[in-house]
Amino acid sequence: MKKDTRIVRGGMNKKRNLGMVNTPVVRGSTVIFDSVAGMREAVDRAIKKREKVPFYGRRGTPTHWTLQEAITELEGGADTVLTPSGLAACTYAILGCVKAGDHILVTDSVYEPTRTFCSGMLKSFGVETTYFDPLIGGGITALMKPNTTLVFCESPGSLTFEIQDIPAIAAAAHKHGAKVAVDNTWATPLFCRPLALGADLSIEAGTKYIVGHSDALIGTICGTEEAIAGVQKAASGLGNAVSPDDVFLATRGLRTLGVRLARHQENALTVARWLQTRPEVARVLYPALDSDPGHALWKRDFAGASGLLGVIFKKSSAAAVAAMVDGLELFPLGFSWGGFESLVALIAPKESRTEKSWTEPEPGIRLHIGLEDTDDLIADLDKGLSRFQKALG
Ligand SMILES: *Cc1c(COP(=O)(O)O)cnc(C)c1O
Repeated sequence: MKKDTRIVRGGMNKKRNLGMVNTPVVRGSTVIFDSVAGMREAVDRAIKKREKVPFYGRRGTPTHWTLQEAITELEGGADTVLTPSGLAACTYAILGCVKAGDHILVTDSVYEPTRTFCSGMLKSFGVETTYFDPLIGGGITALMKPNTTLVFCESPGSLTFEIQDIPAIAAAAHKHGAKVAVDNTWATPLFCRPLALGADLSIEAGTKYIVGHSDALIGTICGTEEAIAGVQKAASGLGNAVSPDDVFLATRGLRTLGVRLARHQENALTVARWLQTRPEVARVLYPALDSDPGHALWKRDFAGASGLLGVIFKKSSAAAVAAMVDGLELFPLGFSWGGFESLVALIAPKESRTEKSWTEPEPGIRLHIGLEDTDDLIADLDKGLSRFQKALG
């Protein structure tokens, strides 16, 4: 089946969902068994055989299984672990691949809280992290140590938008016996399937485009048979559980991912091309633009571009960016993205980078291009850039 069909049909199960189209919210902790033999059988099937049968609420309910199966089909993996946030998906994926004494490689462009986890808690548990230039590609071989067990990528980075050469990185990592995890939140499994590019684990902050309405937090990790088994062990050992209400919202959001992303892409391209014509703008960070340094890799490995892009100014100042951003009407200032609405945030990664210094003028801005009419979005940005220029003097 094609992707758009999988988005709509994936995980649908008439019998399991009592005939309902969308999965009902099945809440529950305790599952009651008919007999000791029945209880033994359920435990055996759920734990040893990893079958999706009712056993205990933390292990999921039919609400969870529907989304897990839908994501597994979309990503093309063996199974999916749901997590209570996107960040939890990143940390569980890492914990599923390491033990004390191991070394991991993490892209320097990684989502900041993932970095905080690696440099802090992971380090205190005896796992060492080396950050690498996101454009390193097959050159990552030079950073491999005998105890390197994982390469963690994020492509493109959600602040600076570098596209990583996942096939080259995966080939180098596998040669050294290391696994590869990719934070695929920007593209979603609709526009990129990291497992097909050679990765072992694909991570989504479902909070963004899968939920799609800025009203729930969730994460997903899909992987190959071997890689996901490690993640399942780590997640269940840590007590992972996700609210069925949030899973319901994610499944509901998933069904319209195709049409939403098509519109996000169309709108983002329109706004990106307009921004490129502006005298204040040095670069628009958006891999779908011909001029983007990651364009060739994006064209090779991605089926589309989502609605998140960056803007680097020729000359910038905190006051000028504040003058622009504070007066925007259709771009409220906020963390996160991936909902139906436009948003703005600032780009200032200089301080957190350690491997490849970020030399662009700071601050830049990050725009999430929502589903509004682009005429209105552009008019709002146009007024904002006038305020920017005036404040810059
Ligand atoms: C938002 C985000 C996360 C974290 O997701 P939460 O649900 O907010 O915890 C992880 N990775 C990327 C790339 C993100 O943009």
